[in-house]
Amino acid sequence: MTYDLVVLGSGPGGYAAAFRAADLGLSVALIERHNNLGGVCLNVGCIPSKALLHVAGKILEAEAPSHGVQFAKPMIDLEAIRHHRQSTVDTLTGNLKLMAEGRHVAVFHGEGQFDSSHSIVVKGDTEQRLEFKHAIIAVGSRAIRLPFIPYQDPRILDATSALQLERIPKHMLVIGGGIIGLEMATVYQSLGAQITIAELGDQIMTGADKDLVRVFEKANKSRMDFLTQTQVTAVEPTPDTLKVRLKDAHGEQTLNVDAVLVAVGRTPNGRNAGIPEIGVKLDERGFILTNDQCQTSIPNIYAIGDVTHGPMLAHKASHQGHTAAEVIAGKAVDFQPLAIPSIAYTYPEVAWVGLTETSAKQQGIAVKTAAFPWSASGRAIASGVTQGKTKLIYDPETERVLGAGIVGAHAGELLGELTLAIEFGATLEDIALTIHAHPSLHETVGLAAEVGAGTIT
Ligand code: FAD
Repeated sequence: MTYDLVVLGSGPGGYAAAFRAADLGLSVALIERHNNLGGVCLNVGCIPSKALLHVAGKILEAEAPSHGVQFAKPMIDLEAIRHHRQSTVDTLTGNLKLMAEGRHVAVFHGEGQFDSSHSIVVKGDTEQRLEFKHAIIAVGSRAIRLPFIPYQDPRILDATSALQLERIPKHMLVIGGGIIGLEMATVYQSLGAQITIAELGDQIMTGADKDLVRVFEKANKSRMDFLTQTQVTAVEPTPDTLKVRLKDAHGEQTLNVDAVLVAVGRTPNGRNAGIPEIGVKLDERGFILTNDQCQTSIPNIYAIGDVTHGPMLAHKASHQGHTAAEVIAGKAVDFQPLAIPSIAYTYPEVAWVGLTETSAKQQGIAVKTAAFPWSASGRAIASGVTQGKTKLIYDPETERVLGAGIVGAHAGELLGELTLAIEFGATLEDIALTIHAHPSLHETVGLAAEVGAGTIT
């Protein structure tokens, strides 16, 4: 049998593409090397990390000033926490299996390797060769490994092993102050670890505006040490400790820690699975080159998700998956989002979408900003979450909103309105005239727009 479509990789890009294509009437095969569907996101990424961050939030809430209610010191049951993480993953990956069955998507478990632009070999319990009219490559990315790290030492963690919560170290160094490192730092800190973050760049959470990041740092400065413009040059294991060499503008120092989490970014899997060999063009870093319809240099082969350019995020992968499947089914669609939201699910959360003030400056785009501090929000004061800020970035001529950033409790949930506003081309006035419920945290979005529009100061 020749499939209309073979999808390689079952992460949020791959399964979204396979399901949409099946819904549009195509015969679809989905290839995945692991037993579970769902890729990095469901198995060792977005979902298990959020299950652990939910627990971290409960602990941090119990430890926060309680406004008249005293909680006892939280009792940590690591086994139960691991169970919550795993049952969340199992529920979602189990659902995916049922959804694939319900749509008659043929799932093949094994290592896929293209042997031509119309066929792929799957090596699992048996070896099978599948022929296809179209293929979508959704092979994702993997963690970058630093050459000087002694990975064989069990005290060295990456994001995947950190999610296992084998033990809670007394002092953990996190190499890399990106979203993944900071989320895992939040989990381990809430469970009792002392945390030091070492970041090579001049700020943690690169990508977010500094004024938002400062609110996060201030809220966490008693819980975490942030070392920016700091390079980790060596990690030496001894029986009692890991000796870490740190270098910054002032010189070098040694830090003794009990665990090191390496979270220095991810690299695409574009050079695997026979992809370059069949003629699919990559850039020098291994990202697959695609056009706006997710089509590669081989016309019947498409690529989506982390293996393509753009932010390495699940929702970007799944939207590209829908685009590729629809194009293959004959629809005239493009992947051209104005706004892809980024959220750090830390405490407080930091969320941003569209143009940031920093990137506007770098690109020479004239913008104005308007912000509303949560210390003036009734709901934030009543809820004890005044460490927050809602900020809009807009065109000074048209007052059209081009970007937004929020730091504070539930910032990620509040960002949805602003993502829609950017996609719809909303102006400050559109947002200011939209009635936001009082008292609510989303009211800060309307109030920031009023500040920008000059109706309040
Ligand atoms: P992946 O999810 O990487 O899936 C690729 C799949 O292809 C894998 O299952 C792999 O086994 C399979 N595969 C690869 N090669 C082959 C082959 N040759 N044969 C068979 N199968 C193959 N993103 C968010 O948007 N929100 C978050 O909160 C978030 N949190 C994260 C937390 C962590 C700790 C990590 C590591 C990542 C997080 N991400 C988050 C990023 C997100 O997981 C990725 O952007 C997303 O999974 C990318 O989806 P994808 O479909 O491109 O690939």
